[in-house]
Amino acid sequence: MRTVYLDNNATTRVAPEAVEAMTPYLTEFYGNPSSVHRLGAKPAEAVRAARRQVAVLFGCSSEEVVFTSCGTESNNLAIAGVLESAPGKQHIVTTTVEHAAINRVVDRMESKGYGVTRVPVDGDGRLDFGALEGAIREDTALVAAMWANNETGVLFPIDEIAAVTRNRGVPLLVDAVTAAGKVPLDLRRVPVDLLAISGHKLHAPKGVGVLFCREGVPLTSAMQGAGQERGRRPGTENVPGIVGMGVACELAAEKTGYYDREVRRLRDRLESGLAAAVPDITVTGAAVPRVPNTSNVVFRGVNAGEMLVALDGAGICASAGTACKSASGQVSGVLLAMGLEPEDAAAAIRFSLSAWTTENDIDYVVDAVPPLVAKLRSA
Ligand code: PLP
Repeated sequence: MRTVYLDNNATTRVAPEAVEAMTPYLTEFYGNPSSVHRLGAKPAEAVRAARRQVAVLFGCSSEEVVFTSCGTESNNLAIAGVLESAPGKQHIVTTTVEHAAINRVVDRMESKGYGVTRVPVDGDGRLDFGALEGAIREDTALVAAMWANNETGVLFPIDEIAAVTRNRGVPLLVDAVTAAGKVPLDLRRVPVDLLAISGHKLHAPKGVGVLFCREGVPLTSAMQGAGQERGRRPGTENVPGIVGMGVACELAAEKTGYYDREVRRLRDRLESGLAAAVPDITVTGAAVPRVPNTSNVVFRGVNAGEMLVALDGAGICASAGTACKSASGQVSGVLLAMGLEPEDAAAAIRFSLSAWTTENDIDYVVDAVPPLVAKLRSA
């Protein structure tokens, strides 16, 4: 049966170019990059090359790139590392729609006595920028916000936020896991201090992430060890994963324009096709800037869990909110924070496209979905 994969915000297929580049580091060049012998030299050079490739995507220097194991680790390392470096500052500013990789860490710091201000969003997912500005205090240690929301694709105005945090002298952590490869991330122009991305969301393998840490930003490592990544993230490097990440970042930089034109066109075709064929649906955040690959559709009167099963039956892979929550059947906290009624939040399906998505895929989904929704609504 045909499979249409529209769950790229959950994870992506590894780019063949990345697989090809990684394979020799699993088979032939398996040495430890810290070793002085010949089998160590080649992996060490590969890690240096990958670091340069990531630095090109970010517009930063290689020294500012820290390899980690995933987006969750990058965010955790940034929050814990910044707070530990500034023990006198006991306040964190974040938003009500962050991924668990930020909000669970912030909750934990709150339970340890930190003050936390969670800046709200409106019904379209737009950040209350004035509230964010007003929330920053003398004792604010960190502002943590996402570039693009993983459930709705809604973009936050990171350049404006960064201008404010820079002006107030507060470090800014940006979770760019959903944004990376979909919008330009030029860190020469946008003064963010720390930025997290995840390999498996941009066609690198699972098990590798990156934390950008701007030169001069104090970051205490959560782990102690042998000093890899200049002590910021010790542990023997995942060389094949890092090589895959480098290639994926190079491809992402090349494909940002394609996302903006072609993937956006396909996403819009999906949304207009569904709107024409299925009554009583809405696209969350449609009125505001979004990453081009994401569409969160509320199929009013349908249970998202049942809809996912029905879609899967038709060969269509999507999710309800985040992939991690889809399995538990939990209603999306992001959609509730946007003010959606709980029954609408429980009827939301996220479709997320990639550069591999074709017009044929989209037309197949637009044809398949209306009878599925009609059946679920009548049941
Ligand atoms: N941040 C966002 C916005 C995400 O969507 C995810 C994963 O879904 C993460 C962080 C965590 O990334 P990882 O799965 O690499 O730990």
